[in-house]
Amino acid sequence: MTEIVSLKCPNCGADIDEGQLTCNYCNSKLKQVSGNICPKCGSEIDDKTNTCQACGFRKKLDKATVRLILIITAVIVISSTIIAIIPVIGVIIGVAASILAGILTIIGTHAP
Ligand SMILES: [Zn+2]
Ligand SMILES: [Zn+2]
Repeated sequence: MTEIVSLKCPNCGADIDEGQLTCNYCNSKLKQVSGNICPKCGSEIDDKTNTCQACGFRKKLDKATVRLILIITAVIVISSTIIAIIPVIGVIIGVAASILAGILTIIGTHAP
């Protein structure tokens, strides 16, 4: 059983659709637009979970949060790549050193 909540304008008593922000008849503001409001049902959304308590609508993260997550992800990826590369650099240096040592030995043996 679904409970239908009939909304009425507190100013003029006209019927209001769900999620309506202003009254069609008297144009009075029905809900605060500035707050964390569910775009689906107009209920307040919990700031911590970003999920509507009334209808379960999940609000998308705002751009600043998305950017922060992207920066953190990039930092993690870059730092883990550097950590993964360090042994490879060691191997390259080792190979280069042995090649250099070999060249030096050849030069040394050919030297008068
Ligand atoms: Zn009204
Ligand atoms: Zn909702």
